[in-house]
Amino acid sequence: MAEANGKRVLVVGGGISGLSVAWFLHRRGCTVTVAEAAGRVGGTIVSDQRDGFLFERGPNTALQKPGRPEDALGRLIDGAALSPQLNVAAPAGKKRYILRHGRLWALPASPPAFVVTPAFSLAAKLRLLAEPFIRRADQEETIAEFVKRRLGREFLNYAVDPFISGVYAGDPRELSAEAAVPRIHELEQEYGSLIRGAIALGKATKNAGMPAGRQISFAGGMATLPSALAAALPAGSVRTGRRATGLERRDGGWAVHFADQGHGPQTETADALVLALPAPETAALVEPLAGEAARLLRAIPYASVFSVALGYRREDVKHALDGFGFLIPRVEGVRTLGALFSSTLFADRAPPGHVLLTAFLGGRQDPQAMEMADKDVLTEIEVDLATTLGIRGKAALRHLTRWPQAIPQYPLGHLDRVATVDEFLAPFPDLYLRGNWRGGISVADCVRNGEALAERIASPGTPS
Ligand SMILES: Cc1cc2nc3c(=O)[nH]c(=O)nc-3n(C[C@H](O)[C@H](O)[C@H](O)COP(=O)(O)OP(=O)(O)OC[C@H]3O[C@@H](n4cnc5c(N)ncnc54)[C@H](O)[C@@H]3O)c2cc1C
Repeated sequence: MAEANGKRVLVVGGGISGLSVAWFLHRRGCTVTVAEAAGRVGGTIVSDQRDGFLFERGPNTALQKPGRPEDALGRLIDGAALSPQLNVAAPAGKKRYILRHGRLWALPASPPAFVVTPAFSLAAKLRLLAEPFIRRADQEETIAEFVKRRLGREFLNYAVDPFISGVYAGDPRELSAEAAVPRIHELEQEYGSLIRGAIALGKATKNAGMPAGRQISFAGGMATLPSALAAALPAGSVRTGRRATGLERRDGGWAVHFADQGHGPQTETADALVLALPAPETAALVEPLAGEAARLLRAIPYASVFSVALGYRREDVKHALDGFGFLIPRVEGVRTLGALFSSTLFADRAPPGHVLLTAFLGGRQDPQAMEMADKDVLTEIEVDLATTLGIRGKAALRHLTRWPQAIPQYPLGHLDRVATVDEFLAPFPDLYLRGNWRGGISVADCVRNGEALAERIASPGTPS
């Protein structure tokens, strides 16, 4: 633990972005307080229990890359003494299925498996041979343009489109390759080819003895992570039920006004202020400082999605459920986006003799879905799962979570937009914006960005 460096930092937003900044700042000796509007910390991370099932309403897993320099999540887990509660997904989770022509196919996990898989046509396989010879693009592209150019249409429809649905609930024709899948885009920039880049990276990882990334959760579910972080901060430094309603410069620092549940408006001051909020909430607070920054933040599109937990008796599900789950390419014409085999990944998720599935519906390619009644969403998903997995009998658990405007999208121009927001706010010292609308939407990205920001605040001059 570092010596106190005397800097008082106020973090507004107690999701994983805000809690990560706070925890890494605390480790670097800053005095931190976190203000969270809701009655609990965690934001989008919500775990729930019912009838012997433990299910997630938001993120189901986080991707951790042990041993890599960017593994801020690993540093957080070790530092917050969370290792005893760590659950690593079962090895079966390495297998992922896609639906094609109404049947589930395992996605090939190696080049030889790719050659023989029936999941892709011979034409698509031959098309890949051209990839190393395709030139770089000279302008920003959508993911769809990027993938069609490098790998062909079939790869876009059956590999990338379902992946983008699974991560962003997004539309590859809208998202920027550079902003939304930066590591894949970098392969082209650095190696001139995705295939050459993947081979080079694979070799480098192997030579360095680095283990592959792993999907993780925690005893009690993903919500254990934010709860443990809040508990690891000094008593009284995390306050829930505290919604920021305005801010102003005061005495060379910041004053933030709150509407506390039941306590009336209050004000708190700090040397530095971090807003770790969704883009629209950030916009509302920075509006008086820079109206143009607020306008740009409000223009960031969001995807709405349903997350549905379904429990069944094991004997009622025909499929082996021997994998991470399955994704449904939009060209298959099925409304459900896909489902995770949650109790295969983590055995503690279902009572004996039962299985837990977590399915998703909605997203940017199905904006009308949010108009559906809950019961219709449940029926739609149950019918799609019954057909795909061979399910008969009634579900033992049915739980739906509606997530309106929940997942930020990084469309063409997103990186410029975020840079311009920062420029508009540059005249205001010690004000920092974080959150999943910038720098990556995954839990691991939010933690990594939180660590980088903490470093920058605690040691000015560090780039983040
Ligand atoms: C359905 C779903 C499934 C997902 N699955 C995965 C997955 O499997 N793996 C993965 O890595 N990622 C997944 N994600 C993405 C990931 O969960 C999020 O990107 C991440 O948790 C966002 O964290 P955050 O702190 O940036 O934002 P949030 O979690 O939105 O936190 C922001 C916080 O700010 C608070 N707040 C808002 N306004 C104010 C205010 N005025 N004053 C004070 N507090 C305020 C909110 O109450 C909230 O707690 C999923 C997301 C969703 C919606």
